[in-house]
Amino acid sequence: MKNVVLLGPPGAGKGTVAARLVQEFGLTHVSTGDMLREEVAQATALGQLAHGYMARGELVPDEVILAMVRKRVDARKGILFDGFPRTLAQAQALSQFAPVDVVVFLEVDKDEVVRRLSSRRICENCGAVYNLVTQPPRNEGRCDLCGGKLIQREDDKPEVVARRFDVYLQDSAPLVTYYEESGVLRRVRADRSPEEVFAAVAEVLRR
Ligand code: AMP
Repeated sequence: MKNVVLLGPPGAGKGTVAARLVQEFGLTHVSTGDMLREEVAQATALGQLAHGYMARGELVPDEVILAMVRKRVDARKGILFDGFPRTLAQAQALSQFAPVDVVVFLEVDKDEVVRRLSSRRICENCGAVYNLVTQPPRNEGRCDLCGGKLIQREDDKPEVVARRFDVYLQDSAPLVTYYEESGVLRRVRADRSPEEVFAAVAEVLRR
């Protein structure tokens, strides 16, 4: 099985695609954002350190992220990295402990990202992701999967979204060139429905 990286700006649909890839391709999901939110929710030392950066829409320092990922990832194949790596230093470190076979770059512009994130809601309990416009829950305010309460992530508030996009352009966009140069980058247009995006990503992975 391949090791896959999902790359793209916040709101590109990485988490949504990841959930289906895990189900249909049996990949192991490694989402640094989900891990950090768990640490914050449990008020661990790591969570307390990360929280300020996350609330401001900034990146948590590389050493912290790398220690967290190394602890959870062994050299197995079939890992789906979602939201990691986000800097060149993280990508270089990753190449030392897990080979990256394919990088799927979900392309979407800033206007679409801002629109999507303002209507995104997540389940406070299980982390499932909804969109009030395009993927509403069956019962208002409640998760279809576990009945948990749906909330807006604090970093999905408009002022933080703008900062996250700028951070993406500055720190993470260079990864597109980095992975293009090593020949593993595949581009997928992500300004489409979740079904269409998933189908396109699945095709890339089957090739
Ligand atoms: P995400 O759910 O992937 O959008 O991540 C939410 C927030 O967690 C980001 O805005 C960052 O503050 C932090 N974060 C997640 N992954 C990373 C990473 N690989 N490097 C640095 N910070 C991260």
